[in-house]
Amino acid sequence: MAVPIYSDDACLAHSAGSVHPERPERMPAILRRLRDRSADRGIEFMTAQPASIDSLAAVHDRAYLAALEATETAPVTVFDADTAANEHTWRAARAAAGAAIAAVDHTVADPTARPFVVARPPGHHAEADRAMGFCFVNTAAVAAAHAHAVGIERVAIVDWDVHHGNGTERIFADRADVLYVSLHQYPHYPGTGARTDRGSGEGLGYTVNVPLPAGSGEREHREAFTEMLPVLTDYAPQMLIVSAGFDADSRDPLAAMEIGPAVYRWMTERLTDCAIASAGGRIVHVLEGGYDLSALADGVDAVVAALLEYRV
Ligand SMILES: [Zn+2]
Repeated sequence: MAVPIYSDDACLAHSAGSVHPERPERMPAILRRLRDRSADRGIEFMTAQPASIDSLAAVHDRAYLAALEATETAPVTVFDADTAANEHTWRAARAAAGAAIAAVDHTVADPTARPFVVARPPGHHAEADRAMGFCFVNTAAVAAAHAHAVGIERVAIVDWDVHHGNGTERIFADRADVLYVSLHQYPHYPGTGARTDRGSGEGLGYTVNVPLPAGSGEREHREAFTEMLPVLTDYAPQMLIVSAGFDADSRDPLAAMEIGPAVYRWMTERLTDCAIASAGGRIVHVLEGGYDLSALADGVDAVVAALLEYRV
C-alpha cells in the first residue's frame, strides 16, 4: 500500500508578507522530511491539475472568485489584517484545491490509498465570499463538494487544526450531506466554534464543535475524540476529509495547546478506523495550519506513518 502525497510547486510562490507565519518554507520542511523517509515507506509524490473555476464555485461565490483572480495582476491585495494576496496567490490556491480534488479522485478509484495533500495557502477560514485567517479558497470544502459530484453522498470533514474552521462550518451549516466536526482551542481566533453552534435547518446536528481550553494536552484530546467518535460513526460517512493543521503542537507560536506528534498519529488511527468501518477506507488529509517548521514536519510525518502502517 502506498500513501500518495499531492503537492504543487505553484503553492510556493504565494506570500502574504515577508514576516508572515504562513510562509512558503512550510511546504519544503514537510516534503524534505517525507522524501528522506520515502525510499522504504511506500510514499508516492503526485501532482495534479489546478482546480477549475466551476469546481471552486461549488462552494464559493463567482464574484468572490473573480476578485481573487484579479489579484494576479495587482502587486498586493489586502483582504484582512493577516490575509494578503500577491500575484501568485490565485494560482497557488487553485493548485491546492486541485491537489485536494485529485486526492479525492484517487481514493475513489483506490480506497486503499490514503492521500495527504501538502499544499498552501490553507483553506478552512475561507468563507463562500471572504478570505480571512491566511485562507483564500476553502480547499477541504472544495474537496467535499467534489466528492459529492462523483457520487459520494455523505462526507465527514474532521478539522483538528487548533483554530475553528469558521469557513467550512458556514459553507455546510445548513446541509446534512457534510458532517463538520472541529476540535479547537476556545476561546481563540477566529472566535467561532461554540459547542452550542450545531448547524441550522436541514443541517442541524451536522456541525459538531468540541471546544478545548488553552493548555489542553493528550488527555483532553483523547477525551474529545471519545466524545466525538460515536457521532462520526453514527453518521457513517462514505469519505473522511481531515483538515489537518499542526498548530496544536506545543511548539507552535500561534496557539497554546500541548500535544505532539504521537497524538496526531493516534487521531489518524482513530479516524482510519471510522473510514474503514463505513467508507471503504477512504480518507484524505489536507494540510491546514502549523507554524513551527519542526513541529509541522514531525506532525505530518507521524500522520503519514499511521496512514502507511496502521492496519486493523
Ligand atoms: Zn490553525
